[in-house]
Amino acid sequence: MELNTLTASELLKKIKSKEIAAASITKALKERVSKVDCRVHAYVRAEGLTECADDCNTLPIALKDNICTQGLNTQCCSRILEGFRPPYNATVVAKLKKEGVGIFPLKTNMDEFAFGSSTENSFFGPTHNPWDLECVPGGSSGGSAAAVSADEAIWALGSDTGGSIRQPASFCGVVGLKPTYGRVSRFGLIAFASSLDQIGPITKDVSDCALLLNIISGYDPKDSTSVNIEVPDYTKSLTADARGIKVGTPKEYFVEGMDQEVKDIIAEAINKLNALGAVSREISLPHTEYAVPVYYIIATAEASSNLARFDGVQYGFRAQAGDLLEMYKLTRGQGFGQEAKRRIILGTFALSHGYFDAYYLRAQKARTLIKDDFDRAFNEVDVIVTPTSPTPAFKIGERADNPLKMYLSDIYTISVNLAGIPAISIPCGFTKKGLPVGLQILAKPFNEEMILRLAHAYEQSTPWHKMKPKL
Ligand code: GLN
Repeated sequence: MELNTLTASELLKKIKSKEIAAASITKALKERVSKVDCRVHAYVRAEGLTECADDCNTLPIALKDNICTQGLNTQCCSRILEGFRPPYNATVVAKLKKEGVGIFPLKTNMDEFAFGSSTENSFFGPTHNPWDLECVPGGSSGGSAAAVSADEAIWALGSDTGGSIRQPASFCGVVGLKPTYGRVSRFGLIAFASSLDQIGPITKDVSDCALLLNIISGYDPKDSTSVNIEVPDYTKSLTADARGIKVGTPKEYFVEGMDQEVKDIIAEAINKLNALGAVSREISLPHTEYAVPVYYIIATAEASSNLARFDGVQYGFRAQAGDLLEMYKLTRGQGFGQEAKRRIILGTFALSHGYFDAYYLRAQKARTLIKDDFDRAFNEVDVIVTPTSPTPAFKIGERADNPLKMYLSDIYTISVNLAGIPAISIPCGFTKKGLPVGLQILAKPFNEEMILRLAHAYEQSTPWHKMKPKL
């Protein structure tokens, strides 16, 4: 049996019973990466692999390229952060190390600054979906999802601003969780949109997701938006019991535009939940239609402000120029890719004098209405179930020239970030062409336990999470 194909929970048991040495896991992963990553391209700066010692005595984890690792390149897959080696670790990295989890020396590919839904916006070129190499893995955490799916990583962390953990998890047939805003510290996560970003697990199954959430959750004085409430032991939610859980299915989500196969697979998954003792009923989230425009105003506004710090002086890449102003212009002109520039322009416009009230302020008000929809719904149901994405993975290049079409990939995921609530994507079937489909489960703030309980019960009685792509 190849160690890289096992889950973290399985490996931890084997390490504990001394059946295997932890060092052999890194070795197995390195072999796998050397064999398949030339086709998948889940990792960036792969030259780092040869520097990595085999005797790393821990269970390694793969990290997205926007999570700061001390002394190890972190560049958000952007040219503008070329050569940037953070002088400190993100809080999640410090927590992982404390628990004896090793940091895999390669970072995973992503859309530049997490701007995207396909991992095509990376300075290093696209990642390929392990289930069909001509398809995208989703994004922006496409590298992390592809690495876990292709057994190039045991588990991984991604970040989710509007779906970037859940949508790639769904496209790659793995589990991805966006925690409640404030559950996991953002300290050391290079910011995209600070009021929406969260770091979360991408894993092979729900048990590993709970295990990893236990490690990374908790209050952090270094992040003023992290919330100081107790962290439960999430593994206690793995009861395989769905009886009595009240499930809402929002009628606004099951409308035109959804791929027919996805629709059928999701309907079957909901039947399964009912068969397991959950009780589903239709609910309404009336402001759903505003989610995409609201998100793209708030997210770009915050991004334009967060990206102002990349000026060629403090970090990474600097263009050669005659004077200071020219240096700023050339550095930003050459350092940012097309999508980053588009978002800086959109966001700066939305925040500019005379337009602020019409766009940004109005978007914030609509955001509150979207959140109120969820508050009302969670008075009636314990969880909400939806597809993670309206379609399965699409072909590389198919939406690259159509940003609007690309933005619509996130239609089912972004309301969750606007409302700050937690949500998971778990594998729930395959299309006839063999592409995975994901089921999304949402709950009220800080009720990750309910999500994990239902997800685990579903997983225990279905085969989907055990399927492996042929590579
Ligand atoms: N696809 C969305 C966007 O491009 C979400 C990205 C994310 O969650 N980082 O903004």
